[in-house]
Amino acid sequence: MITLKEALKLSKEELNEIKKEIAQKAKEKKELNAYIAMDEAGEGVPIAIKDNIQVDGWEVTCASKILKGYIAPYNATVIEKLKAFGLAPYGRTNMDEFAMGSTTESSCYGKTLNPKDTSRVPGGSSGGSAAAVAAGIAIAALGSDTGGSIRQPAAFCGIVGMKPTYGRVSRYGLAAYGSSLDQIGPMTQTVEDAAILYNIIAGYDPKDSTSARVEFRPVKLDTIRKSKIGIVPNYIKDASAAVQKAYDKAIEALQKEGHEIVEVKMHDAKYDIASYYITAMAEASTNLSRYDGVRYGYRAEAKSLKEMYKKTRSEGFGEEVKRRILLGTFVLSSGYYDAYYIKAQRARHLIKDEYNRVFEEVDLILSPVAPDVAYKFGELASPLQMYLSDVYTIGVNLAGLPAISLPVDEYKGLPVGLQLIGKAFDEQRLFEGALSLERGVR
Ligand code: GLN
Repeated sequence: MITLKEALKLSKEELNEIKKEIAQKAKEKKELNAYIAMDEAGEGVPIAIKDNIQVDGWEVTCASKILKGYIAPYNATVIEKLKAFGLAPYGRTNMDEFAMGSTTESSCYGKTLNPKDTSRVPGGSSGGSAAAVAAGIAIAALGSDTGGSIRQPAAFCGIVGMKPTYGRVSRYGLAAYGSSLDQIGPMTQTVEDAAILYNIIAGYDPKDSTSARVEFRPVKLDTIRKSKIGIVPNYIKDASAAVQKAYDKAIEALQKEGHEIVEVKMHDAKYDIASYYITAMAEASTNLSRYDGVRYGYRAEAKSLKEMYKKTRSEGFGEEVKRRILLGTFVLSSGYYDAYYIKAQRARHLIKDEYNRVFEEVDLILSPVAPDVAYKFGELASPLQMYLSDVYTIGVNLAGLPAISLPVDEYKGLPVGLQLIGKAFDEQRLFEGALSLERGVR
């Protein structure tokens, strides 16, 4: 598939040819279930859109039965920005229901398959976007990342996925999961493409109250500075042989590119899991209270209003979403609020402080994205096992930092991705490091 960079240079006629090719190929690869629906009407370079981003006139469902039939009445800011740049939202991609998951198995439209090995998950929750780019049925895509949902599927499918600094990209029009964690970001074939798409969607937006009023300078990749890059030995020791091998390869490549590698020590990432899941579930439980059968999508038949609420939510939400609403409500309830929610916020501050401390010494941190290559379907047998698998990605969201996942190695034919983590609002340095790593490992 041609890259975004190349596609932006095409004439209208050439672009229409490419679109035809994509549509044809998407039909052939229908069994991947990467797209929920296609829209071939828009003019411009086609970009696949995760099903939790509002596109005016599209059905947008967060892959949940409860939103079936809901038509978005406006564009998310990122969509307005794509259009202003001559890109077109092209199709909506499959995902875990309400972005809650790490495998894209919980969608009400059924699971998405990993194009690199269809017996394996594409990762999640932006698994449809990752699979579409990896299968050559999207030039590039948008995903969202609350705790790794862009970076981990990118790693599992062998593409590039970037999570911007919290507040850098507008969340206006992104269906909220964990509002203090969510960010939209690019999923692309190359680091350069990720930078192009990031430059298009980033910047302050008065429509998002958490949008950062920090000056945005588009990332430029003409010169690459040498960086001091931290590696975390106490992180890597728990990763699989495949990930360790990729880590060694990345270190060697970065050194060859002239970067300085230094060992840093960080807290045990198990604290990230507890802090993240309490925070994310608490926020999800309040964010999802709006789906009541009155305002959006699905409504169950019932004799009274109360029964309608109850039946709509019982029938409309899937199992994992319900689990999180219940746990989130619990940690926010009086008597447990201090013990869980407040404590999780304290831990979150400590995690952020520690990243700040490490970033006094280094420019970037190299880290695994997932403990292993893409899992077989059903391999993560319990919800807890699924949560634990997010150990390497969620700290970045808790601390609000930018990070980019890119393919570094292969292991028995499966892609292995690693991530670079940057200082808040220093996407420039992050992309420089990523481009250098991409060159170094090829
Ligand atoms: N797997 C994590 C979760 O389920 C992250 C998901 C995401 O980033 N949207 O919460």
